[in-house]
Amino acid sequence: LLGLDTNGHAHRPYSKQYLNNIRVVDNILKKVESWIHDFYKDELTAFVFTSDHGMSNRGSHGDGDPQNTETPLIAWGAGISAPDTQNPTGHDRRSIDEWKLGTFQRNDVNQADIAPLMSTLIGVPFPMNSVGVLPIEFLRNTEKYKAEASKLNALGLLQQYLIKQDLKERTEFVFRPFRPLEHVDALLEEIDQLIEKAEYKTAERKSQKLMELTVEGLRYYQTYDWLLLRTIVTLGYLGWIAYSSLFIVKTYALGVEPTQGVDGSGYSLIIGIFAATAYLLFLKESMISYYAYLFFPVYFWVKVWVQRKFIVQLFTTFEWKRQKSSIYNALGYVMTLELLVLSYFYREILTVCLLAMGFLWPGTLDSDFVKRHHVLLRNWKMLCLITSIFTLLPVELEENAYLILLGSLLVICSALVGIAILPKYVNAALPSNQPSRKLDMGLFRWQVC
Ligand SMILES: [Zn+2]
Repeated sequence: LLGLDTNGHAHRPYSKQYLNNIRVVDNILKKVESWIHDFYKDELTAFVFTSDHGMSNRGSHGDGDPQNTETPLIAWGAGISAPDTQNPTGHDRRSIDEWKLGTFQRNDVNQADIAPLMSTLIGVPFPMNSVGVLPIEFLRNTEKYKAEASKLNALGLLQQYLIKQDLKERTEFVFRPFRPLEHVDALLEEIDQLIEKAEYKTAERKSQKLMELTVEGLRYYQTYDWLLLRTIVTLGYLGWIAYSSLFIVKTYALGVEPTQGVDGSGYSLIIGIFAATAYLLFLKESMISYYAYLFFPVYFWVKVWVQRKFIVQLFTTFEWKRQKSSIYNALGYVMTLELLVLSYFYREILTVCLLAMGFLWPGTLDSDFVKRHHVLLRNWKMLCLITSIFTLLPVELEENAYLILLGSLLVICSALVGIAILPKYVNAALPSNQPSRKLDMGLFRWQVC
């Protein structure tokens, strides 16, 4: 089985090695199934076959892409229901077109749901701390059994939820409960009554609803402190930015010692704030790591706070009008960085940037330079235009040996062209009496190669 992962990484999922490996595993499964039949001779075995992750076309996994996170779940044998052909719903285009599963109902489950499925099949308690919801559609059993199994599953999840809620309620100053589960006792009683009156289908539905709510509630308490933690971490980063900016301004712009303008009288105030906040965390019975998070913003903001007089002085004496172009430059840098970050989510932004670099930027050059280098600028525009198409193409391409070969040929060609024409520009830029000139040119040729 591990061979599938290894072959997928080494040879990609469309390779002959990978497809061959699938065939091998299929055959092993077939053998295992027949051995079990031959040994027990009772047809009372259930088989559950699944995988821990998928793979992208390039043979990688680990990001959140559906290709990596969607896995097959195939179950058959004793206690497993046959596929539902009456309501062939729940599909996306791929499972109809590529997998040809359009005639069956599709029941997606989370990987955590497989543990309760297996427990129910063999009739043992659900694993402790399991957050799985029993996928009832997979079970072939009496309605009563399914209703009771669902109820037990819901009770198990609810217990975890109640303990989490208890812990939070005990240590929070202002406790905000999870509203949808406030009247859970009434719901439990209703489910009991429904089972008693043999209305199993409705009881099962109510239990499933309860499980969904409980999983949601568990998540609510698990992420209860997110706002607090994110605020602390953000403050830490802002403090770090402020402190390092001050250091850079002092060291490189003003050429003074970083200790200049430091006023130690502010330490006690900030340390007091840190102690008070840490005490609040202590009352909340917070984890040790929370104190570490807290230390991070406090450390940097103390460093900034003791320089407050210097900061005020810096801002009042700064000649805003005379430094206009520096301010615009700084804004330009920040904007470019933000655009680069945005381009992680929308690649098309890079196309816009490349077009701006090719066609807007030359407009800012002085006309003399433009006249002297019009051929270079024309080539620059053309190359920017060509490159801007690249960032519009899809990220995932199937492997194509011809394209790779063509690409490497282009790289070699551009290197040769570089060696032939670029020294002219380098020669013009370097003063001829520079002793290292020969070495520079040699190094340059090596780099191009
Ligand atoms: Zn792997």
